[in-house]
Amino acid sequence: MRIIDKVKSIKSQELTAINNLEQMYENISSKNDEINAFVEINKDKAIEIAENVDKKIANGEKTGKLAGLVIGVKANINIEDYNISAASPTLKSYLGSYNATVVDRIMAEDGVIIGINNMDEFAAGSSTETSMYGHTNNPSAMGRIPGGSSGGSAAAIASDMCDISIGSDTGGSIRNPASHCGVMGFKPTYGMVSRQGLLDLAMSLDQIGPLCKDTSGIALMLDVICGFDPKDPTTIAEEIDDFVPVCDNKNLEGTTVGIVDEFSNVTDTKINSIIDNSINKLSDLGADIKQLSFDDLDLCLPTYYLINYVEFFSATRKYDGRKYGERIEEVCGPEVLRRIHIGSYISQKEFSGKYYKKALQARSLIHNDFDTLLKDVDLIASPTVPMIPHKIGDKLDPMDMYAYDVLTVISNITGIPAASMNAGFVDNIPVGLQLQAKALEDHKIISAMSALELM
Ligand code: GLN
Repeated sequence: MRIIDKVKSIKSQELTAINNLEQMYENISSKNDEINAFVEINKDKAIEIAENVDKKIANGEKTGKLAGLVIGVKANINIEDYNISAASPTLKSYLGSYNATVVDRIMAEDGVIIGINNMDEFAAGSSTETSMYGHTNNPSAMGRIPGGSSGGSAAAIASDMCDISIGSDTGGSIRNPASHCGVMGFKPTYGMVSRQGLLDLAMSLDQIGPLCKDTSGIALMLDVICGFDPKDPTTIAEEIDDFVPVCDNKNLEGTTVGIVDEFSNVTDTKINSIIDNSINKLSDLGADIKQLSFDDLDLCLPTYYLINYVEFFSATRKYDGRKYGERIEEVCGPEVLRRIHIGSYISQKEFSGKYYKKALQARSLIHNDFDTLLKDVDLIASPTVPMIPHKIGDKLDPMDMYAYDVLTVISNITGIPAASMNAGFVDNIPVGLQLQAKALEDHKIISAMSALELM
């Protein structure tokens, strides 16, 4: 059942919010020990919300857009009274003292938040292996990583532990695990969703977004969380059209989809052939396919990581132990420590403009060149991740780990919207199709996802 239909059946009392919650909770009870998608659950609180939804419906009162849907939230987004640790020992005793704006909006629309999803420490990773809660298993390819850093959010969806989950994406952290777990993940245009209450990885790149099994759930959640927030001055003030009306779209006549040679050059051949099938489907749906070329791909990862290190180093200066109890450098894992050390070094050298200034120049170049590519097309289609997820426990050196992100960082560097949806399988392992669009043209991505899904 599509998520919008599930909400309808809850509102018409064919299904109760409590029954929906019980079903999800049963899945959590039977699968979470092995999957480790949730790291904290508050069943009593969820029951209270679900009962209240059912009561409102029984009394004929108006209920919200998410009435009775079960929601998981990544461990770096503040929720009152939950341990919001970003999966780091640095914050192991920090209790959320307020709700992030997205959380308030979900609650105001009667979403039933059930708990907190696992992630890489401070969202700095692509595998969900660096969490203080231990790794998350991939429900769609057991024994392999679920991707990251929102690995718990994607695994929770893939194993039916919740209807919609919320992740954060700085360089691919929503789309990468969505791809590896065979679900959908959406990173909105930068500024479309409030970041108030999100623990920063790199604030000029971070964006919050939804994961779900179908387009209607993604669209519904976007309708709830998108929009101006006076508490986050980077949010866009313009009115945003609703996404749900777009998720019944069935054809792509008049849409031009670009494919980029350089993207397939860095991708595993088996993944390329799955993506070629998706491109054929887009064409069958009426889209015109246009070949494009992008010269800056080699610049993208170095630019992304340099900016990430500097902004992350700056963001971590508040974890000096006075407020949260632990000094970050003394308790964090090796990847977080690497970013702090390199970020600190780069920041010290900055008086000579040696690295960071150059990264910002490279960022402008990538931005301009990618905007130019997008001028001629509505969407760019590509693999989400150029390789299949490794087996849990395989040791990758940092550069190999970073290589997972080569096709996802572009939309964070440029601020454009991007999503991943399942395109097929290589040796039974899910492979994601990534769709990117111009800034503020997020609806075009939803429209293409819907056409592919309903085909
Ligand atoms: N894997 C990337 C990194 O380590 C992206 C992480 C993210 O999007 N949060 O920075």
